[in-house]
Amino acid sequence: MATCDRPGLMPLNEGIAKLLAAVSGQARTETVALAAAANRVLAEDVFAPAPVPGFDNSAMDGYAVRAADMALGKTYTVQGRALAGAAFDQWLHPNQVVRIMTGAAIPRGADTVIAQEDSLLDGAAVGFSELAPLGSHVRRAGDDIAQGSRVVAAKTRLNAVHLALLASVGCASVTVYGKTTVALISTGDELKSPGQALDYGDIYNSNAPALTRMLAKLGVDIIDYGIVQDDPELFRLAFQRADRECDFILTSGGVSVGEADYTRDILEELGHIDFWRLAIKPGKPFAFGRLPNSYFIGLPGNPVSALVTFHLLGSQAIRQHQHLGYQPMSQLQAITTEPIQKAPGRMDFQRGHWQSSAEGVEVAPTGRAQGSHILTSLADANCYIALEQERGSVAAGESVTLWLFDEMF
Ligand code: AMP
Ligand code: MG
Repeated sequence: MATCDRPGLMPLNEGIAKLLAAVSGQARTETVALAAAANRVLAEDVFAPAPVPGFDNSAMDGYAVRAADMALGKTYTVQGRALAGAAFDQWLHPNQVVRIMTGAAIPRGADTVIAQEDSLLDGAAVGFSELAPLGSHVRRAGDDIAQGSRVVAAKTRLNAVHLALLASVGCASVTVYGKTTVALISTGDELKSPGQALDYGDIYNSNAPALTRMLAKLGVDIIDYGIVQDDPELFRLAFQRADRECDFILTSGGVSVGEADYTRDILEELGHIDFWRLAIKPGKPFAFGRLPNSYFIGLPGNPVSALVTFHLLGSQAIRQHQHLGYQPMSQLQAITTEPIQKAPGRMDFQRGHWQSSAEGVEVAPTGRAQGSHILTSLADANCYIALEQERGSVAAGESVTLWLFDEMF
């Protein structure tokens, strides 16, 4: 079979490999309070200075007992009470018990907790309807985290659970990598911001709010340069300023082969293009390059192309700078319930909606059409139907590979 690669178009995986190789990780680190560390990337392993829990404690409300003393039909004097935060600080007497609440330290001499539900209350004395094996309902010191063990590894983006773990070992501040700074530049004479009046032929800038949200999820600082008119001198000024202020320059529009497409020219003039034009659909004119102080991500202007290429490529470049590396989307095989038109030559990222049924996983393309200007196709989707570069049209009932949407959408 003849090869279907289009000359001049780079396969997606080559583009991703080039981009990952080009971007080095942020060198700067800083120390921030734990309360300000959400979504930041940890720069050092954090080890537990003490075990968690720090002491044996009760998993239930009930009675702390010595298992060897226990028998059905006997009654026991309640020697005292142990509460979370208010330990019982005497030794447990033989044939006595201590009332204990969840989280309270196990009194010295006790080894077992009998649940309240299994107790028969009789004033200051108590009997039991059910006995518990030795060690029941006791949470051991170090059950969760052993002293000296690694609590969270360096190069982790801190989520809610990581923050809880760090707090549980008493970590008040953490060393994180400096935030990646991204300049967002929307290019096009036709662009207006919502709230402004449109002249005939104008459109609203829909890429900027979407990219702002996706960048926020990546935890970067954004400098929004707004809309830059299609004028090489204005591009030059914007790129030069952004290059001084930011780690990445993220543009949308002006990167194709039209008469007002100056992005590549100015990128080449001020820096260097690593690659341009990928064998993907949507998003062929994606460009990646470098300026003296920054990396350059040039997204196509069409809304679907801009968001999909940012998802597939741009976000990965930023993750690389954040020391997080490439994050592939989860993949799933599915049966398409509808035929899909495709020409060999480019890898196609159709927007789809998948669900599982009695027959297995099914998927259908979303939207009335799949053009790169049909944003609604993306809104209704929960995955890409990733059709291989060399593949042609797909019939209903054929198996296709899905790339499942992650936190970006
Ligand atoms: P370009 O890549 O500049 O040739 O733009 C391709 C298409 O995307 C054109 O129809 C533009 O009007 C449209 N476009 C460019 N930038 C944006 C944007 N920020 N928001 C929405 N549409 C855009
Ligand atoms: Mg344009």
